[in-house]
Amino acid sequence: MKPPPFAYHAPRALAEAVGALAEAGPDGKVLAGGQSLIPLLNMRLAAPARIVDINRLTELDTVEVTERGVRVGALARHSRVLRSIEAARAQPLLTDALRHVAHPVVRNRGTVVGSLAHADPAAELPAVLAVLGGSVDAMSAGGRRTIPADAFFTGPLESALRPGELAVSAFFPGLPPYGGAAFGEVTRRHGDYALVGVAAVVVLDDDLRVASARAGYLSVGATPLVLDLTEAAGRRSPGSCDWAAVAAHAESLVDPETDIHAGADYRRHLAGVLTERVLRAAAANALERGE
Ligand code: FAD
Repeated sequence: MKPPPFAYHAPRALAEAVGALAEAGPDGKVLAGGQSLIPLLNMRLAAPARIVDINRLTELDTVEVTERGVRVGALARHSRVLRSIEAARAQPLLTDALRHVAHPVVRNRGTVVGSLAHADPAAELPAVLAVLGGSVDAMSAGGRRTIPADAFFTGPLESALRPGELAVSAFFPGLPPYGGAAFGEVTRRHGDYALVGVAAVVVLDDDLRVASARAGYLSVGATPLVLDLTEAAGRRSPGSCDWAAVAAHAESLVDPETDIHAGADYRRHLAGVLTERVLRAAAANALERGE
């Protein structure tokens, strides 16, 4: 199918893009990698009157790694971030999760920030941003603001971005010295959207006991779900934690739905199995980094 007609803007400067979006208001849509928007247009599930293509805004094609974490600009493609050794060192969870996003062809065009803005509850990166407590920076004619991850994802394919706002970057905090992370998901075929996915972060204290254990879930609800499992883990050394019991506790807290891909019970079961797996891996990882 072909998309419905729309006015097309391809600005060469950020100020111009923000101006075009302000003019378009609720009728406007940003086009980044087009890996989700173009199919939606072609299937006529979206019909924006104006499209603002940001592909010429090379100033947004950035991956900045600092001691604090990884800041990804709105035009950085999945594949570019995946290849960044510095980003993998600062935040291995982002790299791990990106390996599970679609296929190379999609990753060569799709953007990290576009995936966050799209806010698909089955996507990997929203869960990663949420469990890390990251944020999205948005710009509009009215100025710039930072939206924390826990306020960013508001529903399926819905975010806190307002009409006229452009997400200019996303910030993924780095791992602390005694921190470890791991990602796991179950898909029917490699590259498909996951039936369930879990991103875990375990941080140890100076005595190498669990100071914090968090898990972020995709495909178990309308938005990414983050569970703080620290109390369940019991502030023990990773070797003496009952990770199976922690996972069973997490399984009792998730409340997925049945759809054409999987039943709710099966999804809940997968959430438990994956939680144990990724928590163990994240804890082992934290111990390795701490030694
Ligand atoms: P676009 O398609 O250009 O835009 C998507 C939406 O976000 C639009 O509403 C657009 O207006 C908005 N948007 C984009 N950028 C901005 C911005 N900077 N500011 C404000 N709004 C913005 N994703 C996964 O996570 N996991 C998968 O397993 C997966 N599998 C896929 C398989 C296939 C075959 C395909 C085609 C896609 C798949 N995707 C998957 C989606 C892919 O990751 C997309 O790259 C991603 O959803 C959107 O990024 P994009 O840059 O292509 O955004």
